[in-house]
Amino acid sequence: MGEIRLHGRGGQGTVIAAEMLANAFVFGGKYASVFPSFGVERRGSAVMAFARFGEKPIRERTRVYRPDILLMFDESLTEVAANYDGFKNGGMIIANTKHEQHIIDLQVKQQLLATVDGVGIAMEETGTPITNTCMLGAFARATGLVVLDDLKQAMELYFTGSVLTKNIRSLERGYAEVKVSHFAKQAEDKAADKAFNIENVTIKPPQLTSPFEAAWDDVDKKLITARTGEWRYKQPQPNQTACRLCGWCSVYCPAGSMKLGEDGYYHPDLNYCKGCGICANQCPARAIMMKAEEVL
Ligand code: SF4
Ligand code: SF4
Repeated sequence: MGEIRLHGRGGQGTVIAAEMLANAFVFGGKYASVFPSFGVERRGSAVMAFARFGEKPIRERTRVYRPDILLMFDESLTEVAANYDGFKNGGMIIANTKHEQHIIDLQVKQQLLATVDGVGIAMEETGTPITNTCMLGAFARATGLVVLDDLKQAMELYFTGSVLTKNIRSLERGYAEVKVSHFAKQAEDKAADKAFNIENVTIKPPQLTSPFEAAWDDVDKKLITARTGEWRYKQPQPNQTACRLCGWCSVYCPAGSMKLGEDGYYHPDLNYCKGCGICANQCPARAIMMKAEEVL
């Protein structure tokens, strides 16, 4: 039996991706099981899903504590050491990131590291930062455990029409563009059945500067303040010429991050602005544009 832990953020399609992956395993003639785990139930917060696959019926019903494979949908999550807890030495990591060195620096001891610019591909193919289908394509290519046709068949259970077409393009580009690196030494360690242990890692505590945001730390079992600015793909850009200074953007911002600046205009606090776009939707003057971070 193989065990997969998927890490993403609410709104990135992590749970649906886990279900599509399990269906693809079944279409490929294997047994599979899958279920999600939500932390704070809101868009942008961390989400996990667990999938198992094998040649025999799967009776295990627990969360995946010792994953053979980590599938990571969000770049900010790849830099959180806690997300690698229990990862088996010599396992495989498939991650949405352009900075594979950040993962290598954590010394997680993966045998295979596959990285792809999931957000870039998803934005180009679907117009959203929802990376799930792109990451499934990367998974298929990197692991060889499922084939694209079975994933496409699974996707047809969830999407139709142009949404399906766009997501199949995203899947195929994830498959074609994933970069795979192998680590021979870690393959030797696999036989020793060791695992990454979070207790051996020194994690810098977050610098708490705002009372607005908190998140549950699933490993340390405590409430910590989270910089929700790390969730953001799009940034609000207020246009001071069009702004009527009504303050609605500040009232509606769920993170309390749209603040009146010393210049007399409203600006997002980028430590906490999560890019939800509510301020732009609520602005009566249409004075706020949401722009993708990388083109700012
Ligand atoms: S996008 Fe606007 S409403 Fe959403 S968190 Fe940022 S400032 Fe607040
Ligand atoms: S809601 Fe729009 S018009 Fe009102 S203060 Fe904010 S940016 Fe300006």
